[in-house]
Amino acid sequence: MKHYLFGEEGSFRKANLHTHTTYSDGSLTPEEAKKEYQARGYDIVAFSDHELLMPHPELTDEHFLALTSTEYEFVDFEDPSPFPLKKVYHMVLIASRPDETFYPWATRSAFWGNALNYIQDYCQGEHSRYPDQRNVNAAVAQAKERGYLVTFCHPGWSLNRYPDYCDLSGFDFVEVFNSDSGGAGRYSDTSENAFDDFLYLGKEVAPTASDDSHAVSHIGHGATYVKTKDLSYDSVYEALKAKNTFASTGPKFIDLTFDPETCVLTVDSDPVEVISVVTNKRYFRGSGRMNTGSVLTHGEYDLSNFVNAVREHGLLDRSYFRVDLRTADGKMAWSRGYFLKEFYPEEAKSEES
Ligand SMILES: [Zn+2]
Ligand SMILES: [Zn+2]
Repeated sequence: MKHYLFGEEGSFRKANLHTHTTYSDGSLTPEEAKKEYQARGYDIVAFSDHELLMPHPELTDEHFLALTSTEYEFVDFEDPSPFPLKKVYHMVLIASRPDETFYPWATRSAFWGNALNYIQDYCQGEHSRYPDQRNVNAAVAQAKERGYLVTFCHPGWSLNRYPDYCDLSGFDFVEVFNSDSGGAGRYSDTSENAFDDFLYLGKEVAPTASDDSHAVSHIGHGATYVKTKDLSYDSVYEALKAKNTFASTGPKFIDLTFDPETCVLTVDSDPVEVISVVTNKRYFRGSGRMNTGSVLTHGEYDLSNFVNAVREHGLLDRSYFRVDLRTADGKMAWSRGYFLKEFYPEEAKSEES
């Protein structure tokens, strides 16, 4: 029986899961940001001002959902070198309920910018924000315990390479695109490296494409589509948690299905030039590629060689496929990684024993 890989119920809503306002270092008020996002077809915005857990329930209505969110930073405050030389870790947290008041790893000395005007009661304590993976993991564990969803942000801009993130744990999402925080010399941060590395290490993350908007010019470049039955906070949170999502800088998936018996993957999408089925092994890389000029909206891919090979060699547990789309003008969409153990749980379990 085929599986609907975005879930069976609901419809896609357009979300930006990383946004700054005048509460931290953004130039738009939350009301102005909402207006600009709605004008570009977004239904959901996570207001993730730096170091500040500031719910905006006043912005939520039947057509719009404001997610309660924050972005925090791990950086060596003692290091006298200029900021562009420092490795940092940034992560966005999305709360499980709109009126969340618990701020994990609250740290008064980490406040900066306009957020200083809004220091909350939760900021009594101090936790180390020294940028190493143990500290980050401890903070993420505290956030997860409270039900937060956690995104690993702009690895390029943060100067995070494989050794910097290979031991991280607990993350739900990785930004494959960030419209504002680019790496060295780049305007935007577009990188599949960290995303694929997390999957390669067996971490079940989904991709996001985020605006990280600080100004109106950053708005509308990235989106995360969430398949949800309605726009209530609970439904959207549950859909995010289930990772019934995809990331995009333009094209949209319509549906993805996989049949574990026939190993056939089907892809339906907006018109694109390339559909790529990516796996952790060599088979199928680029197999969806068509000649330039052709327009694809549907593809069927027989993954049985891949599935059978990893099955025979006891690698089901760690193996995955994912799909990406590319339009003629270079706009992308990325599905999450689908681990084969989701479809063959019994076999994957017996691999362990
Ligand atoms: Zn950031
Ligand atoms: Zn940011």
